[in-house]
Amino acid sequence: MSASRPGGSECSEVAARLKGRFLGSMVEKAMLSEYTTFRIGGPADLLVFPKGIGDLARLLQAIADTGCRWMAMGNGSNLLFSDRGFRGVVVVLGRGLSRIKKNNKHEVYVEAGCSMKRFLSWVEEAGLGGLEDLAGIPGTMGGAARMNAGAMGTSMGDLVSELSIMGEKDGEVYCGLYDRERVGFGYRSTGIRDNEIIYIVKLQLEKRGRTEVRERRERVLGWRRRHQPLEYPSAGSVFKNPPGISAGEVIERCGLKGARSGMAQVSEKHANFIVNLGGATASDVRELIVRVKEVVREREGIELEEEIKIVGDREGEGREA
Ligand SMILES: Cc1cc2nc3c(=O)[nH]c(=O)nc-3n(C[C@H](O)[C@H](O)[C@H](O)COP(=O)(O)OP(=O)(O)OC[C@H]3O[C@@H](n4cnc5c(N)ncnc54)[C@H](O)[C@@H]3O)c2cc1C
Repeated sequence: MSASRPGGSECSEVAARLKGRFLGSMVEKAMLSEYTTFRIGGPADLLVFPKGIGDLARLLQAIADTGCRWMAMGNGSNLLFSDRGFRGVVVVLGRGLSRIKKNNKHEVYVEAGCSMKRFLSWVEEAGLGGLEDLAGIPGTMGGAARMNAGAMGTSMGDLVSELSIMGEKDGEVYCGLYDRERVGFGYRSTGIRDNEIIYIVKLQLEKRGRTEVRERRERVLGWRRRHQPLEYPSAGSVFKNPPGISAGEVIERCGLKGARSGMAQVSEKHANFIVNLGGATASDVRELIVRVKEVVREREGIELEEEIKIVGDREGEGREA
């Protein structure tokens, strides 16, 4: 995200420049709570849904020309937007870029807006596997690649061989092909910069029987239903696991399950989830995050680090704001 740059009127200029030469859609002053799995977040100046790669290029050029602040979003399943929202353009790929193409026996290209769910069904049909452990992650393939999402010992970075990215810097739009080394996959992190957006993910998968893949996928989904509070809005695990231990275990050991701030609660079912009981604000969640970190630091001497991305303008934010 290009944080130091302006939003506001520059966003109207972006919208104006795209008029008549954009296939996708745009919403001004869109409430981000309607586009995130946490159901939290104030308005974004402009939410844009490009319909294809040409659209994305035109959009980034308009952003580069106006110097408007912007960020990428997939399905908003790892994001906590502030109650004041986001001054700038949010580029959402979760609708218009979702084609999948098999290149050879093992190699698949997928556009970044394709959901993990749809991609896993597609590869299962194609008799390919390797990513089943990520079943149930409610994000897009681009968001999963950017976060190096993972579960049960498998991460996106184990199977991604290349990312196509577009970026915007100093008024110029650039494209790049990043191999694994350049992507720099780490624990729930990559070296993809905030002024860059992934538009195609290339993966090397393994030949597997459909039944084997389906059974594994269903086992993983069953595990999630039993262990995760899927009945409430959330952004998944809030904290990264400290070395050698699960963050959920540490938080539970500190007696924090069920702790509340406003309508945000440390889940009773999985202590590393903060759930929105209905009408929680971003400040509720942030207050709870601060409290959990303090208690864990005092009692366990462990410094928890957020896995979720906290974004947006906070000035004057609060329940009454
Ligand atoms: C119930 C639940 C369970 C979850 N379980 C897991 C789990 O097991 N493992 C796990 O790792 N995560 C999990 N998550 C978190 C989340 O689903 C993943 O991180 C997911 O990969 C995020 O994808 P997204 O498309 O929603 O990204 P978003 O939340 O929209 O964005 C996340 C970050 O990626 C950036 N981004 C998004 N798309 C792009 C793009 N195309 N190019 C560049 N940057 C981009 C955004 O700017 C942001 O910084 C869970 C979340 C929920 C709600």
